[in-house]
Amino acid sequence: MPSNILDSQAKGVIFDIQRFSVHDGPGIRTIVFLKGCPLKCDWCSNPESQQSQQELMFIGHNCIGCGKCLSVCPAGAIDMENPSRIIQEKCTHCGKCVEVCYAGALNMAGEEKTVEMVLSELKKDAIYYRNSGGGITFSGGEPFFQQEFFEQLLMGCKSNGWHTTIETTGFTTEKVLNKILPLVDLVFMDIKHMDDRKHELCTGISNKTVLKNAQIIAKSGVPMIIRIPVIPEVNDDLMNIQATADFVRSLASVKELQLMPYHRLGQNKYDYLGREYALNEIKPASKTSIDQLKEAVEAYGLKCSIGGS
Ligand code: SF4
Ligand code: SF4
Repeated sequence: MPSNILDSQAKGVIFDIQRFSVHDGPGIRTIVFLKGCPLKCDWCSNPESQQSQQELMFIGHNCIGCGKCLSVCPAGAIDMENPSRIIQEKCTHCGKCVEVCYAGALNMAGEEKTVEMVLSELKKDAIYYRNSGGGITFSGGEPFFQQEFFEQLLMGCKSNGWHTTIETTGFTTEKVLNKILPLVDLVFMDIKHMDDRKHELCTGISNKTVLKNAQIIAKSGVPMIIRIPVIPEVNDDLMNIQATADFVRSLASVKELQLMPYHRLGQNKYDYLGREYALNEIKPASKTSIDQLKEAVEAYGLKCSIGGS
């Protein structure tokens, strides 16, 4: 199919669609969360977004021990003695256990959808996008991870005349970026650390591609907001924040730098997935220390907000 014709049957994996959001872009928005991310940040508040395939989550405190899941599982992937209940390597994601679990103790993260299915969900709120100056925000995970599906979704949004925003780690190729940017009205992009070695330590990848892509986006003229997830003992030192601000002020299309203080809202999901949460010892930063970092950013002549507000 020619690349400029919408392939409405293209498929991808979505793990959530949130309607009526007033964050993550102007006006009233619907946020589409695509599954899969090349980074592995320990503080990720959506750990179910990291792997590209579906994942079964076990919400232990809801379980009443009825054993129905065990009786229907065709893959021998349920272990009633195991605190995390699911043997992930054996699970084929058939969903049979989720259907019979009336206690709400099992939840499948991720669902395969076509572009047409997503667009029809998005259309439900078209009147709100129009009346509020809102639109659609693509988040993840990392939306570029499913680049072909992502491009088709953006094309579908644009054919409906909707404003599009993306939330990205900035990790993709220049070729893909140049293809996608004409379909995007606003970019939120994370810069997690300016020191390459430390960036690799805390995310699993080098920051070279990320910083280069920030420059490409800035050059394209698409408005951009840079976000720093501020993680105590990882990247919250003054030197790193100043180095980031210094880099960001060289990017012409940046409207603002947002400091996103560390929180633990997604911590319980690590339990549901049977994974360890690595930052148990880290405490959220005080308001005073975040305010000091904000002042440091503003000293570089940049507009700075905390948590995007
Ligand atoms: S079906 Fe649900 S409530 Fe029953 S044992 Fe399985 S997980 Fe627990
Ligand atoms: S999703 Fe299917 S294979 Fe996986 S644990 Fe449930 S019933 Fe078993």
